[in-house]
Amino acid sequence: TFITLEGVEGAGKTTILHELHQYLLEKELETVVTREPGGIEIAEKIRNVILDRSHTNMDARTEALLYAAARRQHLVEKVIPNLEAGKVILCDRFIDSSLAYQGFARDLGIDEVFEINKFAIKECMPHITLLLNLDPRIGMERIWSNTEREQNRLDLESLSFHEKVYEGYQLLIRQFPQRIKVIDADQPYEKVLKECIEALENYFNT
Ligand code: C5P
Ligand code: MG
Repeated sequence: TFITLEGVEGAGKTTILHELHQYLLEKELETVVTREPGGIEIAEKIRNVILDRSHTNMDARTEALLYAAARRQHLVEKVIPNLEAGKVILCDRFIDSSLAYQGFARDLGIDEVFEINKFAIKECMPHITLLLNLDPRIGMERIWSNTEREQNRLDLESLSFHEKVYEGYQLLIRQFPQRIKVIDADQPYEKVLKECIEALENYFNT
């Protein structure tokens, strides 16, 4: 089973991911936790190129292609072999991030970005996506107040950019109502986790 987590900056994806890992292990499901962009050496290098704070002149299409390239390599090297071995993959971000960030927020078009991603992933779409849905103002406040977090190029974007990302995700909810499970991330942490687990249980039991 291929599970992805999505959401704006500061929605809590990474923290929830590790809790979900524990939950899946307790269910005795062999699980691989990974992230995008990255997860393997080549893709982590591409990640560094994309997120380097000095690359302020990076063209939006270049960015979209680099994400797709990192995605391809990560799929081939890590995701597909583990899925074939019967494991659960728990991935921090995937194609929906490209559609929301590059497709919608950077105005390249959701459909166009989907096309280059089809080239990269072929048919390998997530089975279920948990979207931690959060007002980006709350998310960015969490990011800006977290002094330990290493800043990346996207943190330099305005709040209105992150609001567009949020809007992009709302369009994706309508485009993929079966796959994307919306979780309200503006709730106490235990509640968010509980709803994520319920969504997964529903998926596993049907
Ligand atoms: O999820 P994480 O914080 O590790 O993502 C790294 C950065 O890459 C984030 O700032 C996110 O906004 C950005 N990103 C992006 N487009 C994507 C995926 C991630 O701008 N398709
Ligand atoms: Mg994160």
